[in-house]
Amino acid sequence: MSRIRPANGAVPFLYGYLNRAHTVLAVWCPPCNDWHLHHDLYRPGTTVHAEAACTRPGSPYRAGGYDVNITYIPLDHVLRQARLYR
Ligand SMILES: [Zn+2]
Repeated sequence: MSRIRPANGAVPFLYGYLNRAHTVLAVWCPPCNDWHLHHDLYRPGTTVHAEAACTRPGSPYRAGGYDVNITYIPLDHVLRQARLYR
């Protein structure tokens, strides 16, 4: 996967949510309409760059990935909330 950034240097960002151990970063990807999971040791309140895990050909993130703003909201909280709106 390419790390090339757009000509204007801008990288789109998404919000990310961590599991309790801070080892799984879950990013909701609107173009794919799905979660992308990244594995490392992360800290809430930081921003990381991630290669896009997009499978959808038209996803704008495939070329340069995305920056992820890691929130303090635990992933299990987000998933619980999401279930309420199904
Ligand atoms: Zn995607």
